[in-house]
Amino acid sequence: MRLIYDLDLPELTSLMIEWGEPVYRAHQIWQRLYRQYWNSSEQFTNIPTSLRDRLAENFEFQALALATALNSSDGQTVKSLFKLQDGRSIEAVLMRYEKRNTLCISSQAGCAMGCVFCATGQMGFKRNLSSGEIVAQVMYYALMLHKETNVVTNVVLMGMGEPFHNYDNTLAAIDRLNDPQGYNFGARRFTISTVGLVPAIRRFAAEKRQINLAISLHAADDALRTSMLPVNKRYPIEELLAACREYIAATGRRITFEWALINEVNDTPEQATLLAKRLKGMLCHVNAIPLNPTQGYSGQATTRERAEKFKQVLESYGIPCTIRLRRGIDIQAGCGQLASKV
Ligand code: SF4
Repeated sequence: MRLIYDLDLPELTSLMIEWGEPVYRAHQIWQRLYRQYWNSSEQFTNIPTSLRDRLAENFEFQALALATALNSSDGQTVKSLFKLQDGRSIEAVLMRYEKRNTLCISSQAGCAMGCVFCATGQMGFKRNLSSGEIVAQVMYYALMLHKETNVVTNVVLMGMGEPFHNYDNTLAAIDRLNDPQGYNFGARRFTISTVGLVPAIRRFAAEKRQINLAISLHAADDALRTSMLPVNKRYPIEELLAACREYIAATGRRITFEWALINEVNDTPEQATLLAKRLKGMLCHVNAIPLNPTQGYSGQATTRERAEKFKQVLESYGIPCTIRLRRGIDIQAGCGQLASKV
């Protein structure tokens, strides 16, 4: 059955017209869904029972069945494993910081990109998520935090899947969550992370959206990058960076490059220097994070000293770099670990 979250407000409005209901019913439903976080048809006591029943007959309100939730030992990270209606599994992670609650959500069940160090890549592609299944992950955590009088502050599409491989549904989900009459979550608080699908980056640039863009780069030369990210064969680094420059020129927005620091693989001064030369003059920032271990990949996380050295090289060329903390390692909730426990 179709999810209620698969509808946007104009579609819900057309449906009410088709069902012979007043147009304002669409707003009544929309606001309760996205402002009160109601998630079952019985809760909709603000509309007539006949309409409630008709909604229940035609739409699924429970998009995700929680299969298991794991809390990290520091209590700051929670990973949820959800079962979709067809039995597929996806995961989403909530990371609590002092002033932020960042949600990392999935755009696909599995992933076709095959990045060697990624547990999701190791499991292969299952299917695209519908826009409603993407929205539902955010609404699940929005409700959880609402009960603690707290809110989601940032959403990153860095969970299972390549968001630009499911472009239309991903962007439709963001637009739905961004609706000022509904959840009203600012575009600038979303980050899409892509492995570098060049045509999609160009399309995204042309749409001039305010959403943040992050590129999983991880290597500064094509041979190394192709050995880690097979997609690089199709879209080599120069082509990828040209698309990134187009995006910056079109939007005026800074781009983030993600770099999983792997000991003696891509954390060397040579890689840092080559990267710095490639990025020189670009409105960008490098987010480096020690690799999260996965069962199917033998690479090890960098050391603190090597990470610092890497950062220093970049900064000596004027490229800002942050070494990020690894979160939720003990519950396999770090980036690339999402599928490995399931
Ligand atoms: S890192 Fe991202 S794009 Fe690469 S295989 Fe994993 S989920 Fe897919």
